[in-house]
Amino acid sequence: MIELRGVSKTVMSGTSPLTILHPLDLVVPAGQFLAVTGPSGSGKSTLLGLIAGLDAPSGGRVLIDGTDITALDEDRLAKLRGQKIGFVFQFFHLVPSLTAFENVMVPMEIAGRADAPGRAATLLSEVGLTGRGHHYPSQLSGGEQQRIAIARALANDPLILLADEPTGNLDTANGRHIMDLLRGVNERRGTTLVLATHDPGLAGMAQQQLALRDGRRDGH
Ligand code: ADP
Ligand code: MG
Repeated sequence: MIELRGVSKTVMSGTSPLTILHPLDLVVPAGQFLAVTGPSGSGKSTLLGLIAGLDAPSGGRVLIDGTDITALDEDRLAKLRGQKIGFVFQFFHLVPSLTAFENVMVPMEIAGRADAPGRAATLLSEVGLTGRGHHYPSQLSGGEQQRIAIARALANDPLILLADEPTGNLDTANGRHIMDLLRGVNERRGTTLVLATHDPGLAGMAQQQLALRDGRRDGH
């Protein structure tokens, strides 16, 4: 489902190259829940961005559902991302000028789905926010905004859901609710779930753990 072969990332830091992810091999079978752990700065977000095709690796190959995404042009990559990958961020990243309902609609409108309004209503109900669709992000709590972000990420029934510290900006109760939602998606829909977290309790729920330190698999 997700396969990384020698994937690395090197950026320029001032005038010298800096490797923020050293060559990494990883296989995440379809439907698995993988937790990526490690301290701040260890490379978790970099890795998720590479899996999502939001960023290109400096070396190696990223295979998503059998497709080498590093070989795709921008249009094909954007299309694959829209169809197969949902992304949830720590700070929600909702569009502030759109209502909750409209935020959930965006990926479906891009995909040209005729059933978008009906599906948006179903998704809002799935995250427990029926009746809040007309609210703008600024009128919603952090936990509610994250639930909208999850509904948006699920809009096109992705095979893969990537969540980058999705509870990092929430209190304990809201964080638990978000984790229940994500695990429910993984279990009920069979969506592959990749969760970046520095919470060992959350990581312990996963079927596979990848611990990073300084851009390397910890202990290697
Ligand atoms: P994490 O998500 O685990 O906190 P990141 O993947 O965000 O870690 O970052 C890993 C390291 O790479 C950090 O030291 C960060 O400062 C650095 N980094 C990330 N992106 C860039 C970039 N575009 N240019 C320079 N350094 C970067
Ligand atoms: Mg990060």
